[in-house]
Amino acid sequence: MAKTKTKALPLSPAEIVGRLSALYGRPVWRPHEDAMTELVLTILSQNTSDTNSGRAFMRLHSRFPTWKEMMAAAPEEIEAEIRVGGLAPTKSGRIKGILEEVWRRTASFDLSFLGAMSLAEAKAWLRSLPGVGPKTAACVLMFALGRPALPVDTHVQRVSQRLGLVPAKTGAAEAHDLLEAMLSPEEVYPFHVSLINHGRGLCKAQRPLCAECPLNDRCPAAPVYLGKKRVKRIA
Ligand code: SF4
Repeated sequence: MAKTKTKALPLSPAEIVGRLSALYGRPVWRPHEDAMTELVLTILSQNTSDTNSGRAFMRLHSRFPTWKEMMAAAPEEIEAEIRVGGLAPTKSGRIKGILEEVWRRTASFDLSFLGAMSLAEAKAWLRSLPGVGPKTAACVLMFALGRPALPVDTHVQRVSQRLGLVPAKTGAAEAHDLLEAMLSPEEVYPFHVSLINHGRGLCKAQRPLCAECPLNDRCPAAPVYLGKKRVKRIA
C-alpha cells in the first residue's frame, strides 16, 4: 500500500512561545500603568525606531512637563520638539488632538478607568480618539494596563502569516482579532514580544534564516525558503 505523507500540524501559539523563549528568553509582563504616556509614545513610534521615538518623547516632555501644557501648545511647537522621530507634522496634530479629546471627555489625563472596562469597550474608547487604530489601542491596554489586547505590528503580522496562524493576505486590523482569539490572556504579552524578537532576529522580512530557526520543522513557509535543504528541528 502506498504511503501517504501527513502534513505536520502548525504550531500552536503556546508551542511557538515555548520554543522562541528558549532562544530569546521568556518575556515577563510588567505593565507600567501610565496609559497616557504609552498613548503618546505609541503615536511617536509610528514609522520610526524605538530610539528615535524615545528621543522625541524626552524632548517633548522636557519642553512641556505636564499634559495640560502640551495640550495648550501650538502644533508647530510640538512639531519642533518631535522632529527627530519623523512625520512630525502628522504626529504633532494627532498628539494635540488626542490630548484635547481626552480632556474634553474626562476633564483629566488619567486613563486608568480603561482597566475596569470590558476589553471591547476599552478598545472602542481608545479607537474613537483621533488617529488611534487597533495597534495603538492594544499597545496602551497591554503595555500600560496589563489588559490582554494584542498589538500586531509588521513583525507580528509577517511571522504569524509565515507560521500559518493567519491567512497570507490578512490585513492588520483583521489579524488583531484572529490572533487575539487564539491566545489565552496570559499568552498575549509573551506572544507579542516573542514574535517581535523573532521578526527582528531570524524571521526577517527579506531572507529569513530558516536553517537556524527553532520553528522550521513545523513552519509552512520553511520549505519555500529552504528549497531542498532538509528541515531539521533544532534542539
Ligand atoms: S522557519 Fe523561516 S519562515 Fe518559518 S518562522 Fe522560522 S524563520 Fe520564519
